[in-house]
Amino acid sequence: MYIRELKKTITSLHGVGKTLAESYANLGVSTISDLLLLAPRTYEDRSRIVPLGYVESGSYANTIVQVRSHHYFGGGRKRTLKVVVEDISGEGPGKASLLCFGRNFLERVFRIGSQFYLYGQFQRNFHELQSSQFEMLPLLPDGSMPNTFGALLPIYPLSGNLSQRIIRRDIAAALKLYGNFSEELPESIRTRNQLLPLNEALQNLHQPKTLADAQSAHHTLGFIELFYLLLMSRRKRSMQNQGKRAAPFVITQLQQQCIERLPFSLTSDQHKVLKEIGTEIAEDNPMNRLLQGDVGSGKTLIAWLSALQCIEAGGQVAFMAPTELLARQHAEMAAQWLEPLGIRLAFLTGSVTGKSRTLLLQALKEGQIDIIIGTHALFSAEVTFASLRYIIIDEQHRFGVVQRIALLEKGRTPDVLMMTATPIPRSLALTVFGDLNISTIRTMPEGRLPVTTYLVANESRQRMYRAIGVEFSRGHQAYFVYPRINDSGESTLRDVESMFKLLTNTMYPGIPAALIHSRLPEDEKVSILTRFRNKELAYLVSTSVVEVGIDIPNATCMVIEHAERFGLSALHQLRGRVGRSTLQSYCFLVYEQSLGDDARKRLRVMKESNDGFHIAEQDLLIRGPGEVAGTRQSGFLKLRFASLTEDFSCMEQAKIEVDAILESDPGLVDIANSTIREVLLKAPPFEEQRIDN
Ligand code: ADP
Ligand code: MG
Repeated sequence: MYIRELKKTITSLHGVGKTLAESYANLGVSTISDLLLLAPRTYEDRSRIVPLGYVESGSYANTIVQVRSHHYFGGGRKRTLKVVVEDISGEGPGKASLLCFGRNFLERVFRIGSQFYLYGQFQRNFHELQSSQFEMLPLLPDGSMPNTFGALLPIYPLSGNLSQRIIRRDIAAALKLYGNFSEELPESIRTRNQLLPLNEALQNLHQPKTLADAQSAHHTLGFIELFYLLLMSRRKRSMQNQGKRAAPFVITQLQQQCIERLPFSLTSDQHKVLKEIGTEIAEDNPMNRLLQGDVGSGKTLIAWLSALQCIEAGGQVAFMAPTELLARQHAEMAAQWLEPLGIRLAFLTGSVTGKSRTLLLQALKEGQIDIIIGTHALFSAEVTFASLRYIIIDEQHRFGVVQRIALLEKGRTPDVLMMTATPIPRSLALTVFGDLNISTIRTMPEGRLPVTTYLVANESRQRMYRAIGVEFSRGHQAYFVYPRINDSGESTLRDVESMFKLLTNTMYPGIPAALIHSRLPEDEKVSILTRFRNKELAYLVSTSVVEVGIDIPNATCMVIEHAERFGLSALHQLRGRVGRSTLQSYCFLVYEQSLGDDARKRLRVMKESNDGFHIAEQDLLIRGPGEVAGTRQSGFLKLRFASLTEDFSCMEQAKIEVDAILESDPGLVDIANSTIREVLLKAPPFEEQRIDN
């Protein structure tokens, strides 16, 4: 049996009922084959003992301990139990404190003198080793070890009621019942590329004995994945390449009108890119183009201008943004620039409902709307167009390579333009997106000053507050970004709600401000942003919801607290919210003294460079080859097993095989019936990778 033929639903497994099935569905798992192809995010290595004495700050201990004493710290509702344990593994010395936030009842469980297996992440705080995230399992009287001790544990993505324990249990059951699938790739390809037999790969994926086992499983499945991905995109290209060349592109009438109305002139890069896009739109072949340019470089305007070309030719345009907030901002922009030209605009997201939705969909179907702007709701089945010619996708790192191919497979293909501020190295792009062309805006609009970036140690924040106060007095605006929404008691991180109080009561009394985060209802977020745009608010206190795309040129200050916890691309995106006009802007990266090596490097890169391309390169360098399963890759380059940024050689090999097949024996591999093709096309749910959840 091929694995794709195993269509039994997961509810056929013992212990999986309706509720769990729903949780699994959120992970894209409905059949047993889906379950077997669920990739662990990473592995926890509990195969060796790491005694407390050898744990570095930020890393994990895995050992046996005895409880020595109990203490309490804090008062009132926040009174918290602290359990002091001592290492008795015999592998090394060590002592540590376990902080039991909200779990003071553990005093009875962790009795003094009792012994436990301990696994946890530790920090060195106030000269002692501490953990608030740990697992303790009692030593059993019969001396047997718990099955999580001494093992390599897969860590899966979670959703709803699922836990690691439940997923491991279900996968173990599935492997036991169905472990005997037929191979899909020809044997010659498997041996040439040192791939494991499929069944062994599945076994090693979920129950590896060593890290090397897990790695070779990921190599095998990743190779298969890249192989089919390349085969799909290259085959499509070789079918499309027969189109005719059109006449050289000239700026159209509507475009000219729009450009003349702008309060500024286009940069030469914007002109160049508009021409590249225009030329390809005019050709018979459907366009697949990536428009990359740093935050604030003026990509969106170019997208609108190129849309005009399609509309003049009688087509409709769909503009898709990653969030409702951004969709709305784009709609406002379009109204300002395009409506005066007589372009008919509409706005569609999940929150447009009832009668207005019905009418809108009707008008769209009858061709009475030229441009529709929205979220991925635009691609739901009920939305039909009179003649969709052009799809523009903003910030496409939220919209994967796979959805793009799914779109291409829908037959009559419109032109597609994807915009991103996260540049990818050209070689990588060409390898992966065989059919993708790239346009790049390198220069910023004239008069932009580079953002001045300050690294601010947590203790010396007063000067920063004063500097921002001065900006307020000039009528400029600011963002304050924190990693979490409220003080859930579990950590010392500063949060939006308490800092909002501090800022409004103590720092800037009388200056209007608002707090904004992802848990607010959509219309509230929109109204806050509108007030901010209208300068009714001087600053926003926020989580990283302001990360992508928000365009408020009068904002000149960006404060990012706990900057050491953000990745480089998030920091760059956040900083890109300022410096969007001719005003001098400032970015303050507030950090904790105990900086790890990588965090220190990231902050230095941010201080030294404003160049998104340079920052992206440094990002790859700092992150290095990464962990086993490419856990840190962005959604944009996300596949299930392979990491497009890390598995270069694997990709090269897959490419060689694919080219050979397309050249000599296109029928050798049955794409239509491959499991991986099904897996790939199963669009993974849109993911928001945030730290505020
Ligand atoms: P991106 O999408 O690349 O982040 P936007 O298209 O949102 O950038 O542009 C950022 C800001 O710069 C917007 O306020 C836009 O109106 C403005 N802008 C775009 N092109 C120019 C230009 N050539 N000169 C001056 N300002 C520009
Ligand atoms: Mg943008």
